Amino acid sequence: MDMDKVKCPHCGYEMPLQAAKDAICRGVFVRCKGRNCKRIFEVRINSNSDKTK
Ligand SMILES: [Zn+2]
Repeated sequence: MDMDKVKCPHCGYEMPLQAAKDAICRGVFVRCKGRNCKRIFEVRINSNSDKTK
């Protein structure tokens, strides 16, 4: 299965999270593990795919 890594939108840190390319995710928040970041961001995967298609 193809997997996408989840990256922090603030610093680009690769989170220890992976999602299938056809996963749909929104409203899930994680804290960045980047050293100088630690910001909370929303994990959005294909959540607006009806718009992009
Ligand atoms: Zn970050």
